[in-house]
Amino acid sequence: MKGVENEFICGGDVHGTPLELEALERGEDPRDIKDEQNRKVREAYESLNVDFSIFSDTHSEYNRKQTHDMFEELYCSGLINEKTQNMAYCKDDERFLPDRYIEGECPHCGGLARGDQCDDCGKLVEPENIENTECQICGNNNIEFRDTDHLFLDLTEYKDELKNWIEEENPVPENMKKQILHDLDEAEDRSITRDQDWGFNIPVERVNKRIEEENLDIDKLDSKTYDGKVLYVWFDAPIGYIGFTRELFEDGEEWKEHWNQDAEVTYSIGKDNAIFHAVIWPTMLLGASNDDIEYSLPDYEFIQQYLMWEEGAFSKSRNRGVFIDEAVQHYPADYWRFYIAKMLPTNHDTNFAWEDFESEVNNVLNNTVGNFVNRTLSLVEKWFDNEVPVGALKARDKEVIEEAEKTVKKYDEEFEDKNIQEALDAAVELARIGDRYLSEEEPWNNEERREETIHVALQIIRALGATLFPFTPEASGKIGDMLNTNIHTSEGVNELLDPLAGGLEPGHRLGEREILFEKIDVSEHKDQTEETSDEEPEDEIKKFNQDTVSFDDFMEMDMRMGEIVSVEEHPNADKLYKVKVDIGEATLQTCAGLKNHYEKEELQNETVVVLANLEPSELRGEKSECMILVAEDEEKNISLLSPNTEMEKGGKVR
Ligand SMILES: [Zn+2]
Ligand SMILES: [Zn+2]
Repeated sequence: MKGVENEFICGGDVHGTPLELEALERGEDPRDIKDEQNRKVREAYESLNVDFSIFSDTHSEYNRKQTHDMFEELYCSGLINEKTQNMAYCKDDERFLPDRYIEGECPHCGGLARGDQCDDCGKLVEPENIENTECQICGNNNIEFRDTDHLFLDLTEYKDELKNWIEEENPVPENMKKQILHDLDEAEDRSITRDQDWGFNIPVERVNKRIEEENLDIDKLDSKTYDGKVLYVWFDAPIGYIGFTRELFEDGEEWKEHWNQDAEVTYSIGKDNAIFHAVIWPTMLLGASNDDIEYSLPDYEFIQQYLMWEEGAFSKSRNRGVFIDEAVQHYPADYWRFYIAKMLPTNHDTNFAWEDFESEVNNVLNNTVGNFVNRTLSLVEKWFDNEVPVGALKARDKEVIEEAEKTVKKYDEEFEDKNIQEALDAAVELARIGDRYLSEEEPWNNEERREETIHVALQIIRALGATLFPFTPEASGKIGDMLNTNIHTSEGVNELLDPLAGGLEPGHRLGEREILFEKIDVSEHKDQTEETSDEEPEDEIKKFNQDTVSFDDFMEMDMRMGEIVSVEEHPNADKLYKVKVDIGEATLQTCAGLKNHYEKEELQNETVVVLANLEPSELRGEKSECMILVAEDEEKNISLLSPNTEMEKGGKVR
């Protein structure tokens, strides 16, 4: 909008273990799965009118080239070292289990640690420190730790420089600084290679050739050691930013203008990615700089906290939340963009609530913005044959124009200061200024003031359309159509410097009036989960297919074969037995509602399936820490589930 040349790049980081695991599970090529996943993400962004210069993924040839360029530079500068690492190895699958191939208890909080990071506390963990590990390929615990050689990125070399950068240049939000300085202080080195197939290979030959040619005092890499290993996802994922830029410019030289010292680079990430972007990535940028290109450190990183769903995490499998594909079916993308910008979790996690969404859309978008625009334009139709009236501006009119100009200036400054919410407030303030002005001047009662008040109100609508563009681009487009002018052109026009311009000269003919925003009623979406009773059968089948759980969520359920070792009456409940089930590693107790279906003796020593990691609770004073699974038909007949061949206790159900 200010005519500054810029590129907005994004893409998927696709070399993660979850994707390789899913490919293994589905017996498919990881490339197909990454295409499918990336397409979904791209479509979600498109449906919200997010307009990237490029949306790619990290598996491209451009990114491979950039990754190998940076690897070579880092290795030949002595910032990558070989170390022997003790890695998890599954004896059943006869392979190493990098990162997310093993899961277990987090050594910090006891939560679910997947490979190198804990899902619950978000801390990085070393796989050796995870307790009760489980192989994610076969589900067994037949795991040992074996030595294997890997490459490590040295994170100590630029500590002082980066500390200075964070403290002096303020590249991260104030509330994240302390954590990041702590992470920086603790940083030592991080392994950047993995024993797996999916990913970029290690450019051994290229590196060795350079060492030879330049006679460097660096050990050559042994090609045998790195056969069957790849660069780990987090190494090539941030490099993707540059890879995407190279792809955008088809590898010419122009991409460098967006990454060298003259460039201003701004990132937008979630708080769980802070360490990668504020410690590791800057180290890589500094270390990989050379005569050809000196990379720019991040100028600013928007590090967002989490948006929660009515105080819990969003979860597709539990139908908690509203997801982009449904969201844009319910309401226009503008409404969501506006509300998310308004709720942006900059300083702390924020909660989405339907009522609040409704009230903001109705009060701000509809009543404040929409009504001001509609009111003004209907008066132009009525009195001026839909043409901009001549205005001999009086002192009061000039004052209002000045106030609007100041507000646009504030808007610009807030954006420059990275205060997105305040910028949105300033845009909306323009509508308030205009509305107040109309109410004070009452052009409908004051025929003498009509021409100039409507003239000024139209100029304010022009500014409103321009400033709302980043938040509600569709509405801005409509305002442009209604004013019969261009609201946003990226052709080097500084709309913000002269926001009230735009060809709205006296006599300019306006376009047709349209509805900008509509009032919404969220009640139908709020209780959607309860509305399942009288649907058409066709809808039910559709629902059955839609209401899916993710593979990850399913794998979180620890279901095992167990043997019932004791059955007692529950002292305080008529329908319950107190049952103990031996699942091999442990004996778990449950309160089971089986009394109307089985005699105690019938249950004794039966092999059953239990959900072993059920959150423990008490049922009428008795502990219940697992669940015996049964089948139930429409007549409420119940049957225990048993395997059809003999199975060991503790065997996993999957
Ligand atoms: Zn943890
Ligand atoms: Zn295994």
